[in-house]
Amino acid sequence: MQHIDLREKIIKTALQLNSRGLSAGSSGNVSARVNGGFLITPSGVKYHKLRAEDIVFMDMDGKTQGDFLPSSEWRFHLDIYKSRRVAKAIVHAHPPYSTALACLDKDIPSFHYMVAMAGGKDIRCCKYEPFGTVELSEAVLEAMVGRRACLMSHHGLLAFGDNLEKAMSLAVEVEVLAQQYQLVLQMGEPKLLSEAEMEDVLHRFWTYGDNAQKIEDEKRRKPRKSWQSNITYPKRGNFYKLPEEKDSL
Ligand SMILES: [Zn+2]
Repeated sequence: MQHIDLREKIIKTALQLNSRGLSAGSSGNVSARVNGGFLITPSGVKYHKLRAEDIVFMDMDGKTQGDFLPSSEWRFHLDIYKSRRVAKAIVHAHPPYSTALACLDKDIPSFHYMVAMAGGKDIRCCKYEPFGTVELSEAVLEAMVGRRACLMSHHGLLAFGDNLEKAMSLAVEVEVLAQQYQLVLQMGEPKLLSEAEMEDVLHRFWTYGDNAQKIEDEKRRKPRKSWQSNITYPKRGNFYKLPEEKDSL
């Protein structure tokens, strides 16, 4: 059996759907990209009963290997991996606050700067389509343009990342934002951050943490010709496209 470590990580992440408040029951699913396809949680198996061999492999044509059927929501996982090359892991769930907003077809607007964690100035809610359908997959892809997360109308939320930990962290962050937004709405209509303020936040995110370290390392090196640089600096005014995603948007 291939990818035993990754299969174990998928199970650990699926269990976190419960422990981190994204799923009180067995709704939701988790996947991670591997060579030639991706691994995804199976349909109809409780997370606490999952074994590494139960995780289903699906290739990019939708053909599967494993004893179980893949999650009934495999289609948008497949289409995200096909169309967003930076997506390495996906977490999908029906957590209460995100789902409540999604049942009102509400986006999460720029009421708080952390909304930019999803890649842009808002977190969109895709239109309703039945679960497991091509139409839902298309609606998700549309809402995810320039974003790593979205709400799904009358359904839940979806987030992807560079790995399972980052996909899970973003899903949790979206759920927290959804909760905060609903608290704010109970007190009144929030003043939203402007486009310029959100562009500034997005710029700061791209010159913060790992990215800032890369930029500092680059500065310490001998001067290089610009075309030799392997660092993508964000350009002001173009922040809604994450730098490494230019080819996939
Ligand atoms: Zn679902």
